[in-house]
Amino acid sequence: MTLAAYTPRSLPESLGGLFTLALDLRWTWHHGSDELWRVLDEETWESTRNAWLVLNSVSGDRLEELAEDPSFQLRYREQIAAHQAFAQANTWYSDNCPGDLGAGIAYFCMEYGLSESLPLYSGGLGVLAGDYLKAASDLGVPVTAVGLLFQQGYFRQAISNEGEQLEFYPYNDPTMLPVSPLRDADGQWVRVVVPFPGRHVRLRAWKAQVGRCELLLLDSNDPRNEPGDRGITSELYTGDPEKRLQQEMVLGIGGWRLLAQLGIQPALCHLNEGHCALALIERAFSWQDLHTTDFKTARTATRATNLFTTHTSVASGFDHFSHTLLRLYLTPWLETRELTVDGLMKLGLPGTVCGFKTDDASLNMAYLALNMSGRVNGVSRIHQKVSQAIFQPFFPRWPADDIPAESVTNGVHTPSWDSPDSDAIWTRACGKDRWRRPLQNSCPMSAVSDAELWEMRRLQRKRLVHYLRRRLASQHCEQNPGQDYGAACGLLLDNETLTLGFARRFTEYKRPDLLLKDQQRLLGLLASRDRPLQIVLAGKAHPYDQPGKDIIRRWKAFSRRPDVEGKVVFIEDYDLGVASQLIQGVDVWLNCPRHPWEACGTSGMKVLVNGGLNLSQYDGWWAEAWTPDVGWAIRSGATFEELANSNDHDLSDAEELFDLLEREVIPAFYNVDEQGIPRQWVEKIRASMDHLTATYSANRMVREYVERFYLPMALQGEQRDPSTAADIVSEHGEITRCWPRLRFSAVNVIESDGSQTYTVELYLDGISEQRITVELVSEASGHGPRTVTEMTMQHPLAGSAHSYLYECIVPSRPQGHYTPRIRVRDERLNLPLENPAVLWLK
Ligand SMILES: *Cc1c(COP(=O)(O)O)cnc(C)c1O
Repeated sequence: MTLAAYTPRSLPESLGGLFTLALDLRWTWHHGSDELWRVLDEETWESTRNAWLVLNSVSGDRLEELAEDPSFQLRYREQIAAHQAFAQANTWYSDNCPGDLGAGIAYFCMEYGLSESLPLYSGGLGVLAGDYLKAASDLGVPVTAVGLLFQQGYFRQAISNEGEQLEFYPYNDPTMLPVSPLRDADGQWVRVVVPFPGRHVRLRAWKAQVGRCELLLLDSNDPRNEPGDRGITSELYTGDPEKRLQQEMVLGIGGWRLLAQLGIQPALCHLNEGHCALALIERAFSWQDLHTTDFKTARTATRATNLFTTHTSVASGFDHFSHTLLRLYLTPWLETRELTVDGLMKLGLPGTVCGFKTDDASLNMAYLALNMSGRVNGVSRIHQKVSQAIFQPFFPRWPADDIPAESVTNGVHTPSWDSPDSDAIWTRACGKDRWRRPLQNSCPMSAVSDAELWEMRRLQRKRLVHYLRRRLASQHCEQNPGQDYGAACGLLLDNETLTLGFARRFTEYKRPDLLLKDQQRLLGLLASRDRPLQIVLAGKAHPYDQPGKDIIRRWKAFSRRPDVEGKVVFIEDYDLGVASQLIQGVDVWLNCPRHPWEACGTSGMKVLVNGGLNLSQYDGWWAEAWTPDVGWAIRSGATFEELANSNDHDLSDAEELFDLLEREVIPAFYNVDEQGIPRQWVEKIRASMDHLTATYSANRMVREYVERFYLPMALQGEQRDPSTAADIVSEHGEITRCWPRLRFSAVNVIESDGSQTYTVELYLDGISEQRITVELVSEASGHGPRTVTEMTMQHPLAGSAHSYLYECIVPSRPQGHYTPRIRVRDERLNLPLENPAVLWLK
């Protein structure tokens, strides 16, 4: 890479603003400037959707020519004006809570899926982070995101004739990506240094503009680094723990240092998954330096404004690193600090663990994040329960319902996923600006007729079939013809046939092979003459996931059977570009993970805006969204408790899936009236669009983060000044020391008229009664729901120091249903997260 590559090429003066337009990824969802890029270089634009690449590949002569072209000039000036208006416009945030988040949110994530032209993601987590950032821009929420600039990213996929997944790692030349070097106020390229064993790793900083937000990216490919270090940010999710730790150091330590170097002091730090947990340690260090305190105080002060979002459904899914690896890599960083490697490892363990054997101990990054955060959330209501179970060891003796994992259900960035046809319909129903503000549930499709909705669906399906044929052609159908050349090229796909889509990571728990469990039945559906089905599949298996790869091979073999060929197609190299085409065109989106292992799932949300319908396992978001009028659910009403430990529902789920297809989905699709419209189907489309699109949008998700988390957390954070934080540390240290001596000394119940008066006597040792809460807890039963009733202090007990009488009145329940407990009370803290001490009456 040369410096020249970063000296903006000279543009004709009258087109100077093209730089700004080309580097703002807003073009991934706001299509106003598409025409400009198409005119500049149609081939590059259509094949890469990378406006920056278009601008860099167009010839100087062509630019001069266009600068003189009045119609191009007009279009250009319109777009520049629109971009300026966009930058200055009021937003939801500026209207509702201007400035309340101070310097804003620092958002950390290992991957970002913003566009297929910026391949820094592997799947759901990254796409979610990308959609979050786009919605934050729409709403004007001040977010600075931090990530890594991978030179190769996740692998690219092809499938061999034998159905074998082939993996490629093409190099992404950063000068061709829609990012620019991050420069400081003096115009110097910003660089960050992270201590590694025996050396320093230098990181170069880049910036991707995402509308109003910035994504800052680090990469280690600096020629001054050791050759091995230059590759730290080459690939995403390799199986090598050492490389993984190196990446997490770069992201967490380097990422926080980058912000500090830029003078950004975020009001809050939001971790999207635990990979970036080291950022929270580095954040505490820099707070410690600023206020000259000890580490404990710094941790207490900063954690109030750390939010940790987990997306994992099994504890073993979290990253963990061995003590040996940590000692090797983190010692240079911790050398000048009072925190040792062992001390860091303890931060990833439950507070009650006093000693641990370093040989077999490992640091779990999610647990570290939990112990460094002020709030924690899962990404759907079921996932909240799953997370509560995972974090149970950190909250000994706490019932699952009280474990402080909250939930914010994910959402998708609607304007990134709508089709031109659905965009037109929504604009008519709800206006042009609809996605920039809180989406109204009250903007129904009532102004749009059945005929128009159905026409939209037909156009989208036709466009999908066209796209599939193009893709299949580029997948070399000519060289890979199977039995029937035309079938391999997608010529048998039909514009009017019910089209089922399944695309996601090919891994066992997602059960991409559920339909293959009964091949005879599937053959019957595909072969039907008057009510046929066609299926489009896509997805990658992780390079080390052999069972996932086997499923791809089985689908490939099935799709090449002479009686199937052409009706089931597999599109290679699933990415954002493929996803956006599939979700616009399919009639039914299938998702069938093993309950409850899908934390949320987002691909099904992407079809909502386009009138696609969901047929999905009752899991993740669909368990919240599903009602019979909006789509179909497999094993509806299933509960987490019922299925958590059972993998043996595969066959019965497959059976239910086929039943739904045969009895409900296919008949409803083909049951058309004399005008050729399937009324029942269109009614479902209307209900799904009306009821679900706004709710499962990133717009709603980001507002929820702001209102329920960022704003109250920022307020709490402001109160944790150095002296308050030091007080909290010493007071709670004392509470923890005294806690083992707390005890209940007597309990009494008096029954009268259907209510019970409970009194308890407590001995509080040295703990102030201001610092405890006494509660009477009754779990849900035939006698009613779970209740937690606070008991009030009546008076100290005469004749015995530190002893008090508490009382409350509750509706009568049988003996043994109510149990008193003592917990810590402190309005300054989030409890029980920050102090899980609890004492139950035995
Ligand atoms: C939306 C999306 C995902 C996530 O889909 P899930 O249903 O959550 O598995 C993964 N990859 C791509 C390319 C996507 O667009």
